[in-house]
Formats: sequence, structure tokens, C-alpha cells
Amino acid sequence: MLPFKIVYSDAYYLPIGEHVFPAAKYRLVHQRLLEAGIADAADFLAPEKAEDRDILLVHGADYVYKLQTGSLTAREELQMEIPFSDELVDAFWLAAGGSILAGRKALEDGAAINLGGGFHHAFPDHGEGFCMINDIAVAIRRLQKDKKIERAMVIDCDVHQGNGTAAIFGKRRALEQAAQPLPSEGGPTLQRTDHGSIRELSADGADVFTISLHQENNYPLWKPPSSIDVNLPDGLGDEQYLGWLDNAVSSALRRFDPQLISYVAGADPYKHDQLGGLNLSIDGLKKRDEFVFRLARTRGVPVMVTLAGGYAQDVNDTITIHSNTVAAAKEVFAGN
Ligand SMILES: [Zn+2]
Repeated sequence: MLPFKIVYSDAYYLPIGEHVFPAAKYRLVHQRLLEAGIADAADFLAPEKAEDRDILLVHGADYVYKLQTGSLTAREELQMEIPFSDELVDAFWLAAGGSILAGRKALEDGAAINLGGGFHHAFPDHGEGFCMINDIAVAIRRLQKDKKIERAMVIDCDVHQGNGTAAIFGKRRALEQAAQPLPSEGGPTLQRTDHGSIRELSADGADVFTISLHQENNYPLWKPPSSIDVNLPDGLGDEQYLGWLDNAVSSALRRFDPQLISYVAGADPYKHDQLGGLNLSIDGLKKRDEFVFRLARTRGVPVMVTLAGGYAQDVNDTITIHSNTVAAAKEVFAGN
């Protein structure tokens, strides 16, 4: 039995038909974990759909109304890049409920994994990039509302920048900075080399600190500022990636003291990803996961995990990478 829970439902399946997003991956990861003996049936918890009032902690009433009445405009549906249906709305409400549950269990057990979620491209007033509801933000806001935490840190390692999450949690910062302009627009760039750059904003007054490590030359074109954005060059490999991750997280933890880490464990920095242009190996991605879990355990900060993207040419690789995230957590949290 694992020392943490895995949140999963067969209803995580996204009814989007033939699509680059492998909607069956949730079921396949669940199956792989059982078959490989990484987890057993008792390790899983079934989520319930988030309540509308949870969704409304992050998303605007107009947007939620449009989703619930099926009245998105054609343009809004196009921007989401997945075909709208009532069933799809249910799946996203369930993913958000799963992330809330994973957040609660992480606070109890030190770690928890939602075998879904990580929909970091959803904004308060619209969905995009296969994301309708930002479950990461919904979970954090719900835990804050329940007074279980005050401060959270998002470590987003999906290959695409976490634009929705940055916009949601950066709103307060943006307002403060508009009132008191900083010397350089977008915040100071602390380091810049041919091999990538890191941009840091002030964390003063922030209750959620967001870190995004992503390929610079990739969707989204417009990257609203995270607390720390690490813009990585095309083709970056394991060793350099892990160096940037260590650099960014170390810097973040000098400036911010989180009570929960939300780790967005995207599988798409993988070298054979169809929508990514980094060059990480399966082994390198597991080392990335281990790094985050070790750090959380050493510092005694609970960590909740969401899966986010993964579009490997061979879907089995995506399943392996996501399953390895659970295996890495097992190694770190079950060890002494
Ligand atoms: Zn992605």
C-alpha cells in the first residue's frame, strides 16, 4: 500500500473523439499502475465533481453559464481546441473535483496524485489549448477558502507555459504593479544566455507563487508572467533541464514559503512528443519528478500532483512517463 493516495475515475476520459490529446491515457495509466504493481486497488480514491461554487472561485459567472448552457460562441469553442459537449463539461468538473481531493489528501499525507487534471491553459473567462477549467487554480482557491492553507506554490513542468494559471494568480500582482510601476516592464530578467532565460517577478503580497518551466518557442505565443518563468531553448536535454529546475525552485523557495506545492507533471517535455520541442528522455523526466518530490519531502511541504499534457508519438511512452511519476513518488515517500 502506498503512503499516499491516487485520485482517479474512469470518467476522467475526455469525449473528444480522434484527437492529438490521448483521452484514453487516464484509463491506461490506471491500468499500467496496477499491472506493474506500482499501486494496488486500495491506493485509489474516486473523486466527485467540483461544486459550481468551487469553479466560480476561479472562473467568471458568464463563462460558467455558457459552459452549462452549451452557449459558447464558435470562436470560443475553436480557441478551446476540443469539441464542446455536456459530457465534456462533466469531465472537467470531475477533474477539478479530483484536484481538490488530491490537495486535501496531500495536506493529510504529505503527497497525493490526481491521475488527471493539470489544465493550466484555462483562463477565468475562457478555455484554450485543450483546457476548459483550471483545476489547479480551483483546488488552491478551495483549500484557501477552507482555511486549510494560505500560501501555495505551483511548479509547472509541462512543456507549454502555464498561461492560464499565471493570469489567474498574477492578477493581484499585475494590479499592484500597475499602481507602482517597476523599472522594467515584465520584471527583471535575472539571467539570459543562449541556452535559456529566467524571468522573475516580485513575490510581495502573492498568496500563490507560480513557476513555469517551458519551451520558449511554443504555444502559447502570449505568455502572461508567472512569478518565475524559465524560457527554455529548443532541444534542451535532461541535464540542463534539471539544472534550470533546481535554479528556479531554489530561487523561489528563498522568496516564498509555501504550505502546499502543486506540481504540474506534464509528460510533453519528452523528446518524442508531437507538441513539444525539448529533448528529455523518459529517465530524465523521472529524475525531474524525483527532484520535486525529494524537495517537498525534505522541506516538509505537502505536494499534490496533476498530469497535464503528453502527446508522445507512441502513446505507450506517455503512459510510461505518467506512471513513472507515481513510481517516483513511491520511491521518495515510501523510503526512509
Ligand atoms: Zn503541454
